[in-house]
Amino acid sequence: MNYLSTRGHPDRKRFCEILLEGLAPDGGLYLPETYPQVDTATLAKWRALPYAELAFEILSLYIDDILPADLKAICAKTYTAEVFGTDEIVPLRELEDGVYLEALSNGPTLAFKDMAMQLLGNLFEYELARRGSELNILGATSGDTGSAAEYAMRGKKGVRVFMTSPDGRMSPFQQAQMFSLQDANIHNIAITGVFDDCQDIVKAVSNDLGFKRKYRIGTVNSINWARLLAQVVYYFAGYFQATASNDKPVSFTVPSGNFGNVCAGHVARMMGLPIQTLVVATNENDVLDEFFRTGVYRVRAAVDTHETSSPSMDISKASNFERFVFDLVGRDSARLRQLFVDDLGLQGSFDLSADPAFKQAAGRFGFRSGRSTHADRLATIRDTEKRFATLIDPHTADGLKAAREQITPGVPMVVLETALPIKFAATLVEALGEEPARPKKFEGIEALPKRVVKLPADAEAVKAYIAENCD
Ligand SMILES: *Cc1c(COP(=O)(O)O)cnc(C)c1O
Repeated sequence: MNYLSTRGHPDRKRFCEILLEGLAPDGGLYLPETYPQVDTATLAKWRALPYAELAFEILSLYIDDILPADLKAICAKTYTAEVFGTDEIVPLRELEDGVYLEALSNGPTLAFKDMAMQLLGNLFEYELARRGSELNILGATSGDTGSAAEYAMRGKKGVRVFMTSPDGRMSPFQQAQMFSLQDANIHNIAITGVFDDCQDIVKAVSNDLGFKRKYRIGTVNSINWARLLAQVVYYFAGYFQATASNDKPVSFTVPSGNFGNVCAGHVARMMGLPIQTLVVATNENDVLDEFFRTGVYRVRAAVDTHETSSPSMDISKASNFERFVFDLVGRDSARLRQLFVDDLGLQGSFDLSADPAFKQAAGRFGFRSGRSTHADRLATIRDTEKRFATLIDPHTADGLKAAREQITPGVPMVVLETALPIKFAATLVEALGEEPARPKKFEGIEALPKRVVKLPADAEAVKAYIAENCD
């Protein structure tokens, strides 16, 4: 399997070459040259497989430069009941007639990002050992991504994590999750500033090519192809649990921010998994909902990006969206560059409303969208507690609301549960007047000793800290 860049760079790469990379050299995103097709006989075989073996089968179609036995061992070591809480790994439960929740949030940090990041940690360790090389991951987080990365990379050989976060702005639970890690290869850096300052620092350090090369700086952001690929697996696992045979369509609703999660659904659908509809659920930051309703993709300025009660979906642009638009315009790189380089670069938006391709978003590609507000989230959380005695987190609530607006009778609707409610306790308290129960392993974590350094919002200070801690 070869990988290409959405922006038309002539080079083709293998999986392990792009594993440790971010963007392609021309600024595009990597995609496989073709989507492997899965027929009914294969689906029938896969239906009976445990999650780790299903993951191995799917990953094998995209990875041909890791020995099969090694890849199998990596999958087996990643997707265990010990790490993810159940043998099913992503158990499905019916909420009401035809509406299901697929639990993706029972990994170490209680959000779905563990599903991909845990695999990434093992893949990184494997590939770095093979190369005899090291990697220093530099990141910025306001919550879920940073903790998922740290729990995936802790104790891994050849990897260090330097994770910046805005000082005092994460929830006490999120801070405790990250700062209580005592592993020598995990470095928490609290920046006196806001999340944008952290992101600017990461950009500034990455743009210093000399420093980047000398200290082998890398990232684990959501455009990483291996992360997206890992997420394809749970669409198959969800499909098998929601149906009794492989001729039935299923729809999925996905609480979305950077479009990584739902893009994995798009890939599963392109492979031939019988997905009828992919519903993109957004909060008040509705860049994506606007596109699927109107054909206009309009990136928001920082001042127009709202701080909401589903904060992991507070985005101004969706970094994986380019992958889907590439398929939408028939994989025409020149057209893609016109949209993402010329139009977005010059005017901050592009308009496909008059392009025949736009109709295909809903047609051939099965996309729908929905939007919700803080009031909707509270109402959905309350209603779900009252009628089904089930607590959901605010992001999953955004999903459930959008899902109900797109149901086709007779087609199961699977809502992806992207986090557990305890991560967003303040909103749960606002909705229900009480704190959600906390999993046992997290009891009292706020009182644990914290391992964190405080630095000013200054890239030079962060560089000096990295240099000091790299021997
Ligand atoms: C990251 C995240 C999302 C958004 O996922 P994308 O892949 O960026 O679309 C939604 N909910 C939660 C809880 C998250 O952590």
